[in-house]
Amino acid sequence: MTSVANLIAAAAETERRTRTMLGDTIAIGQPATMTTTCDSQLTADPWQIDTEPGYGPGASTGDVAPATAPQQKAIPASYTQATDAELHDRIVAAKAQLGDRVKILGHFYQRDEVVKHADFVGDSFMLAQAAKDHPETEAFIFCGVHFMAETADILSSADQAVMLPNLAAGCSMADMATIDQVESAWQQLTEALGTSSGDKAEVIPVTYMNSSAAIKAFCGRNGGIVCTSSNAATVLEWAFERGKRVIFFPDQHLGRNTAKAMGISEDHMPLWRPYLPMGGNTMQQLQDAKVILWNGFCSVHKRFTVAQIDKARADYDDVQVIVHPECPAPVVEAADGVGSTEYIRKAIAAGKPGDVFAVGTEINLVNRLQAQHPEMTIFCLDPVVCPCSTMYRIHPAYLAWVLEEYVAGRVVNQISVDPTVTADAEVALERMLAARP
Ligand code: SF4
Repeated sequence: MTSVANLIAAAAETERRTRTMLGDTIAIGQPATMTTTCDSQLTADPWQIDTEPGYGPGASTGDVAPATAPQQKAIPASYTQATDAELHDRIVAAKAQLGDRVKILGHFYQRDEVVKHADFVGDSFMLAQAAKDHPETEAFIFCGVHFMAETADILSSADQAVMLPNLAAGCSMADMATIDQVESAWQQLTEALGTSSGDKAEVIPVTYMNSSAAIKAFCGRNGGIVCTSSNAATVLEWAFERGKRVIFFPDQHLGRNTAKAMGISEDHMPLWRPYLPMGGNTMQQLQDAKVILWNGFCSVHKRFTVAQIDKARADYDDVQVIVHPECPAPVVEAADGVGSTEYIRKAIAAGKPGDVFAVGTEINLVNRLQAQHPEMTIFCLDPVVCPCSTMYRIHPAYLAWVLEEYVAGRVVNQISVDPTVTADAEVALERMLAARP
């Protein structure tokens, strides 16, 4: 068995290589300032940055991409030099030729010029479920980020292809927990705490949907489970029926907000910093823990602040503030409502003319909701236009390229999860689907 020391050394070496490559800028998991996490100068042509390390302009500019992150190869100039109108027409024509053979899945945070071509629009789990529910479809083109396409591949059947139009579209939060780091943490925890006492496990691993297939599979192999931002409380209850404590990957904020709402004190939620032995905790802290929070975060949702909420309330008497649970705890506690992107969409759909909503989530969704509901005032809490930089890598040129390649009989940019990983990840996903409030 690999020793803990070797696993920590391997993780530290990965970090060292990444830092060297990027000029030793900002370490993953360290708090970044507002100016380091966002660059509002979006790159209109992502192929100019696809072969460089990093996530590019937009939120998460300050995050460090793993050295092993997939990169996108260059696509022909007939796509990169086409006008917006030409790309639109080519996408429409290719879709018409393919008919029902292919479905385009578009995430809520995706840019409008891509979402308008989607057959299904939703959050990551809704879209993976759409793939599962359409066994008659030959192939899916997932206009989202890498872990989402992996989940769609896991839930769809083996003979269906899932393609990600730009392989460089990762997720900075998902990248904050690698499988090597998670294996290392698990080994340290089980050596420190044991595996079980009485009829309960010492630790149950729980991973947010926003994680790699390898980490979902890890949870499946080790008595753990997956959660979404909609069902995190139900999943934690499931875990506490089976274990004394939980380690929650990779989003500390979703884990903390959910556990706090369940009445768990922050004193019992130590942070696990993957580059430190024992995650930077004492034995006593781990023994007292109820939820061990992985030190990951979303750079889009981390930008929201209580000061922004105060300003919205000062500007509008009857404003309703709704935020995503990936926001920091003080923001969630100062809001009127908290929930997934689908919750936010439904809350606004249930509004009435004249209502005012201040929303703490990604700008593309907020702008789309305002366009869909002109009878209301809907705005983003963050005054800086700062979209998810990784979602933004899916440009219509890539969508046109993937579609036309498929028309020509070629599958490009296929996301194919190893069958053994798929089997274990399915166990964790099935546990989630079976968990009931
Ligand atoms: S919004 Fe945050 S969690 Fe979602 S894909 Fe972008 S970086 Fe990842």
